[in-house]
Amino acid sequence: MRGKVMALVAVVVIVAIAVAGVVWAVNRDDSKTPPASAPPSTTATDDPTTAPTESPSIGTTVDPADPKWKAAESRPVEDSKYPNVGDPSVDALHYGLDLTWDPEGGRLTGVATIAFRATVTQDLFQLDLSDALKVDGALLDGEEVEVSHIGKDLVVKAPVQADSRHVLVVEYAGSPESYPAPTTRSDLSTVGWTVTDTGGAWTMQEPYGAFTWYPVNDQPSDKAFYDFTLRAPAPMVGVANGELTSRTTEAGMEVTAFTLSSPASSYLTTVAFDDYVMGEGTSSSGVPLTWWTPRGDTRSAKAMAKLPQAFDWVESKLGPYPFDRLGGVVVPSQTAMETQTMITFGNTPYTLDITTLVHETTHQWYGDAVSPTDWSDVWMNEGMTTYLDFIWESEHGRSLDRVLREAAPYESMHRAESGPPGDYDPRAFGQTNIYYGPALMWHQVRERIGDDKFWEMVRAWPTVHRFGNASRDTYLAWVEKQTGADLKDLFDAWLLGKKSPKLG
Ligand SMILES: [Zn+2]
Repeated sequence: MRGKVMALVAVVVIVAIAVAGVVWAVNRDDSKTPPASAPPSTTATDDPTTAPTESPSIGTTVDPADPKWKAAESRPVEDSKYPNVGDPSVDALHYGLDLTWDPEGGRLTGVATIAFRATVTQDLFQLDLSDALKVDGALLDGEEVEVSHIGKDLVVKAPVQADSRHVLVVEYAGSPESYPAPTTRSDLSTVGWTVTDTGGAWTMQEPYGAFTWYPVNDQPSDKAFYDFTLRAPAPMVGVANGELTSRTTEAGMEVTAFTLSSPASSYLTTVAFDDYVMGEGTSSSGVPLTWWTPRGDTRSAKAMAKLPQAFDWVESKLGPYPFDRLGGVVVPSQTAMETQTMITFGNTPYTLDITTLVHETTHQWYGDAVSPTDWSDVWMNEGMTTYLDFIWESEHGRSLDRVLREAAPYESMHRAESGPPGDYDPRAFGQTNIYYGPALMWHQVRERIGDDKFWEMVRAWPTVHRFGNASRDTYLAWVEKQTGADLKDLFDAWLLGKKSPKLG
């Protein structure tokens, strides 16, 4: 995700002569308009007869023991920052999501077919699903099964054995509601399903919120494959992660199918409905790139056409792209999110700037290919990505030294405000502390070990745990082994120190 203060670095460039007090005042400005996130105001009745049942991807065709799901086997943990979301007893392998969006009624009708592995033997298991969505029925391995749905806890009352594999089908419908984000960020007041002024919809869900639109083990440590079938009245069209594998119009409904062929954490999923037009390009290395912008929105289309340029730059720094394609979808958000292989971009000048394209593209290596096991390590995503932002800036204007020196005061301020990057206040998710401190830390590591070892390490990490998760201990031990350097003092000081270390 893009941090709001990054925009203010640009402000600092423009008003370079501004006195410190003025810059401080700009930085403290929380008056930005919150995301257009009004939940749907309709009170549609929960009519189970509207649940679609004709999708070929539903239910019995999924074999939970299929070896192709092997790469999605995870070791889910209880998250240390957000333990009320997700359940370590479920290891989701594949989500088949058949979603029908009714823009008139603001109503979502879904059938979720979830192949999963039980990680423990117990009498019931649990997923997350917003109670704005009503469950119309559930099948476990083809048999009807009883569920209880209180708050966002969807409890399936069926015994499962450790390491057994199952398919759960959940039919549900309702008017989705976004959910308060655990942060005070001005560009991020809610997470999850959000309805636009024109009846479209989009989602962003970091650190959680996928449960506002599908039943999910909504935590980063459980990666799974995804297939989406999206239906909406034409000309509205649904967009999601992965490859567009089919697009048809059936009785006035636009039906698209997307397949994500790499396992993803739930916070990296995306779905958007709007009257979109698709643009296409290719990276220099031959990776297909696509972007979806609202019809008539030439500014967004022009901005997205720079995706190949951003992609080529990032690939030149980080090595071969970890996935098979990349896309972008533009939505009326104030921020941007690195949703896997289909980035979700807000439609502001800042979130459409090429620096944001670079930032979110970098996340495909740092955050998506390898994701943190636990939300206490979101610095693993934002630290290296912000450092690459700094490098980009240094190649397109100010010197790296100047970029770093200008970032340092913000780093201190936000560390004091939101806590050390590796031990932040969970009510202050995604604040600048997790961006700048770890970025400055990586620069210090580079200074200590030299350019060759540094860039070798930066390019190697996404290939080591590709498509998986890693904990802080695993990561830092790997960095020390890879570089042959003792770096614990730097890691401890920058990640856990209450006060900012000195910039060497
Ligand atoms: Zn980010």
